[in-house]
Amino acid sequence: MREKTSSTVRFWKKENSMSDKLILVAGAGGFIGGSLVSSLRRKGHSNIRAVDVKPLDNWYQRFNDVENLSLDLNDRENCEVAAKGATDIYTLAANMGGMGFIEKNKALCMLSVLINTQMLMAAKKYGVERYFYSSSACVYNGDLQHTSDEGDRFTPPALKEADAYPALAEDGYGWEKLFSERMCRHFMEDFGLYVRVARFHNVYGPWGTWFGGREKAPAAICRKVIEAKMAGRHDIEIWGNGHQTRSFMYIDDCVKGIDLILNSNIIEPINLGSTEAVSVNQLVDIVEDIAEIKLERRYNLDAPKGVNGRNSDNTLIQKYLGWEPSIPLRVGMERTYSWIYDQYQLRENGATGVVREI
Ligand code: NAD
Repeated sequence: MREKTSSTVRFWKKENSMSDKLILVAGAGGFIGGSLVSSLRRKGHSNIRAVDVKPLDNWYQRFNDVENLSLDLNDRENCEVAAKGATDIYTLAANMGGMGFIEKNKALCMLSVLINTQMLMAAKKYGVERYFYSSSACVYNGDLQHTSDEGDRFTPPALKEADAYPALAEDGYGWEKLFSERMCRHFMEDFGLYVRVARFHNVYGPWGTWFGGREKAPAAICRKVIEAKMAGRHDIEIWGNGHQTRSFMYIDDCVKGIDLILNSNIIEPINLGSTEAVSVNQLVDIVEDIAEIKLERRYNLDAPKGVNGRNSDNTLIQKYLGWEPSIPLRVGMERTYSWIYDQYQLRENGATGVVREI
């Protein structure tokens, strides 16, 4: 069911599209935020404010021609400092990680509600023209993702936007995202703020978390395969039975999708994900093939594994944009593996902290 939205919604005026307007990227020290700043610079934007709670030395990507600020955006005053003067705001900051993190840190995940709430209020206060919010496939009703275990041939349910209601989101992280989506909607309806919301499905690629406990499956599997290779071992630990199924979207598709959605008239939260679903076992097959190694798999059935199966239904994004993420998993995984391999070598040689400074 498509939900009704009030007529107070403002649409973006094309003539205001590219200038030296100030763009705020919140969460710019992280994976997607850093890649977004990189892409905005490449497109010629010269006035970018990048904000993250992490110390500047720990950002994945940091650019010297950008205003880089280390601020805790849970705090209202800091959101105002960040938002003041901005035309566009991208809210990508959140305390999050892969299943290993979100299953054990539900309160911390839910506290990210402060970031989007304070940022929306700051956006309203300073008359920001456009606001983007990064939601997640974790908002979807868990009952639609409990499926019988049919091994690697199982076709996972493709989740369409309406499947978020009646709500039974991922405990903690998913509920925060669903509530924040709702907050965005009401700022749009009640205050006329221009807001666009995308529900990301598993994003992967270079310049993201690959060790430390917050990494997601694609990066974790690359790292484990590299570790085994380097140590001359021939086994790998897999979380769950390997039959869990997901789709993974390469970072370049994600950044392109954010731009298309922000510039569109799509006023409801929309899926931004790949439809190329694979099981965790198939993902390991791909990485083994790239690394030219074959490993014995040890399945840890007690480890966090998330829902059984999930895919993105892209009917709506195709209808609106005539576009959907399309970078093949094998292509994206080759780039990701190669980047993690280099990072691994750097770390072995004693490098820490920021990995790219331009
Ligand atoms: P990330 O962890 O790499 O980046 C998030 C950044 O937010 C981090 O650098 C973190 O330091 C920063 N942050 C956390 N709390 C903050 C605070 N109080 N003040 C300022 N900065 C703070 O994660 P990501 O993969 O880049 O994700 C970006 C956004 O996309 C998040 O909102 C996330 O929930 C959403 N998302 C990501 C995925 C994915 O697969 N990566 C999937 C669905 C949704």
